[in-house]
Amino acid sequence: MDHLTKDDLAQIDRTYLQSLEREPLIDVTCKLRDFSAELLERLAQNSSNSSKPPSSDDPYSKGNKGNGDSKDDSDKSASAEDKKSQPAEGGSSTESSQSDDPKRFAGRQPGSQGFWRSETPVPESTIPHYPGHCVICGKEVDVPEESRPYMGYYVYELEKTASGIRIFCTLHHYYGAVCDCGHETKAQPGEGYISHVEGRKKDLKLTEYTMVGPMLAAFIAALHARFRMSRVKIREFLAYWLSTELSVGTIDKSIREGGVACYPVVEELVQELQEEEIVHLDETPWYEKGCLKWLWVAISTRVAVFYIGTRKKVELLSLITTAFIGWLVTDGYLAYRSYKRRQRCLAHLIRKAIALTGAVDEKAQEMGDWFLRELRGLIKTMTEDGEDGQSKCSLMLARLKRACNLGSEEEHSKLRALAKEILNDWDAVVAFVKNPELPATNNDAERALRHAVISRRISFGTRTAEGSRAYAALLSVIETCRLRDQDPWQYIAETIALGRKGIAPSPIPQ
Ligand SMILES: [Zn+2]
Repeated sequence: MDHLTKDDLAQIDRTYLQSLEREPLIDVTCKLRDFSAELLERLAQNSSNSSKPPSSDDPYSKGNKGNGDSKDDSDKSASAEDKKSQPAEGGSSTESSQSDDPKRFAGRQPGSQGFWRSETPVPESTIPHYPGHCVICGKEVDVPEESRPYMGYYVYELEKTASGIRIFCTLHHYYGAVCDCGHETKAQPGEGYISHVEGRKKDLKLTEYTMVGPMLAAFIAALHARFRMSRVKIREFLAYWLSTELSVGTIDKSIREGGVACYPVVEELVQELQEEEIVHLDETPWYEKGCLKWLWVAISTRVAVFYIGTRKKVELLSLITTAFIGWLVTDGYLAYRSYKRRQRCLAHLIRKAIALTGAVDEKAQEMGDWFLRELRGLIKTMTEDGEDGQSKCSLMLARLKRACNLGSEEEHSKLRALAKEILNDWDAVVAFVKNPELPATNNDAERALRHAVISRRISFGTRTAEGSRAYAALLSVIETCRLRDQDPWQYIAETIALGRKGIAPSPIPQ
């Protein structure tokens, strides 16, 4: 079928249709009907019936996937069962970790081949740990020369060298000693925070009694959170390039540990955020165990906090508390509306105006151009002239308001919507003219979310509340370190080392 162009459609107006005889009128109507049908089919295209990628699917209508607003979505995979209740032929489907099979849980499957080290580790050095004091009387205790350690374990650690990195192994030996008072005190590996997840067999505990040193754990967390590598790829990478064999389970634990160790840092960052003068806020869809959630970001010039939760207004309090008295820069999402000191992102409105300039309706095109001219003019004047620009802007503001008033009376639905949108949120749209220190767009927050959006497309999100919180914590620390010109991985490695001893982390340097 010949494609109708914008020009064709503009000509088919009421007057033209009224001028036609019956037969040609039916021809035109049929042509329009076919054209609509074709567009309708194209609208219904998604990853399941065309070559479009899954990431382009509408986040609100992902098949069986639940809505993040509901309280508990633990077992709502009913409709997926019909699709894939049979295992793959031959029974070996261990490779496809992204399987939708609801009966298949994450991680190692029962009966699958286990993981073991092919060679005994060769430690470069042995580090002895002695008890310093008797736990009963507090007296100093000495460990006799000939005594043997009561326990020991190997630790792989990563070290940055002048021209690269290397992974080496150390053996840790723990000794006990008998005090004069008769009590035997044993040196113990440090222990810290325990993260519990309902239904998980083993809690995640921060402890020194582990095979992966703090710097290597931070390195693995970096490969995952920053370089977007899957756990399986990280295992492959470590094995081939660094000759270090770690199981997927150990890698998973290291990734989480990095995030969990950062929890207290994030609590500190949220406090710091409340004292900031300008905070950018934005949110993007996220999936947790296939359920729609939202990844929020609040970012200033020196603090960034990420948070995964629902899109409800109360979730905002996890980022912006009642203590906050600064300015918020946001998009038009309703949850932000009640906040008085707010700048509305003009980039969104400009994109809508650009869409209008491409409309079929001529009036809508003209008005789109008008909105675009005034919005861009305001931004340009305020960026170039700052405070001096205010007087120049008053005429533009008046013209913009007139365009809105005219547009809100028009029949074209998108034109009317944009005009009303600006009018309804007028103070927030033009706040940056009265307050030249405010940015007119929310680019900082959108940029901060971009990395996570790409990760979501690769990984399809997180699987547990702990995974979400740990991932958000890592993002918060990485981004804040970036804002402060600090090495995030050195800091995260130190935070893991302290966390394993049960010691609170030091704040991120300013
Ligand atoms: Zn004693």
